[in-house]
Amino acid sequence: MKADLHCHSYISDGLLAPAAVVRRAAANGVELLALTDHDETSGLDEAREAARALNLRFLNGVEISVTWRDSTIHIVGLGIDPDNAELGAGLATIRAGRDERAKKIAEGLAEIGIHGALEGAALHVKNANLIGRVHFARFLVKQKLARDVSSVFEHYLVRGKPGYVEHRWADLEQAVAWITAAGGIAVIAHPGRYNLSTNQRGHFYSAFKACGGGGIEVCYGTRNASQQQEAARVARKYGFAASCASDFHGVGESRADLGAISPLPEDLTPVWAGLM
Ligand code: AMP
Ligand code: MN
Ligand code: MN
Ligand code: MN
Repeated sequence: MKADLHCHSYISDGLLAPAAVVRRAAANGVELLALTDHDETSGLDEAREAARALNLRFLNGVEISVTWRDSTIHIVGLGIDPDNAELGAGLATIRAGRDERAKKIAEGLAEIGIHGALEGAALHVKNANLIGRVHFARFLVKQKLARDVSSVFEHYLVRGKPGYVEHRWADLEQAVAWITAAGGIAVIAHPGRYNLSTNQRGHFYSAFKACGGGGIEVCYGTRNASQQQEAARVARKYGFAASCASDFHGVGESRADLGAISPLPEDLTPVWAGLM
């Protein structure tokens, strides 16, 4: 089964419409897809409809922004009911926090002479309920302040840079509880991307398991084989199901295209086994 259970549409910070993401996935040979926009589920109806028309299996998903200790961690929820009230209220709170953060990002940029960034970023927002750093990055690229989105992050939007804002997202336990309440399974997104010490990592995996987390992305949009081997070891050690994830955002803005993921090690339990 060629599964891709993590990608984005313009309902969060991807470039394509939900239906266009689904069509591209199908064209790339994906057999099971989940759309997982950041902190937002309003693209799922369109995506599901498009998947039905193409006979592509589809799972509802979301990628929730979490603060664990002082680190931002992303938790993907798969197989969720997007109409669940608890999940809906939680995500709405996170999105409101994004609006507050966006104002502060714009203030930080104004201090170094980049004015009108909030309005500029808004030009790249398709869903008025969801603004993120990528929308600012696209504005700064348009302003010729950097050559691409990645270098905007490096020079303006990461910790220590003028457009960086400390922000508290949802608690880990909350996010997992919302996903579980909505009938889904919580999955650790791109585990190799976090700046945690080995010791912290162990604490994090234990905390995630203790509050009901059940999966980890093992094969994801990176060419880094050692990170994937490490994720596979974690899946075995903690008994997590394994997921496949391109984290596709759009052509030219992503390391991996939809479905461009290596297959899971055969001894691991695929996360979709419990969802289909
Ligand atoms: P936010 O949730 O608004 O803080 O933005 C996080 C998003 O920014 C991630 O999901 C990626 O889409 C993007 N992102 C984070 N770091 C980078 C980077 N170094 N280069 C390009 N995009 C990045
Ligand atoms: Mn993103
Ligand atoms: Mn992420
Ligand atoms: Mn993602």
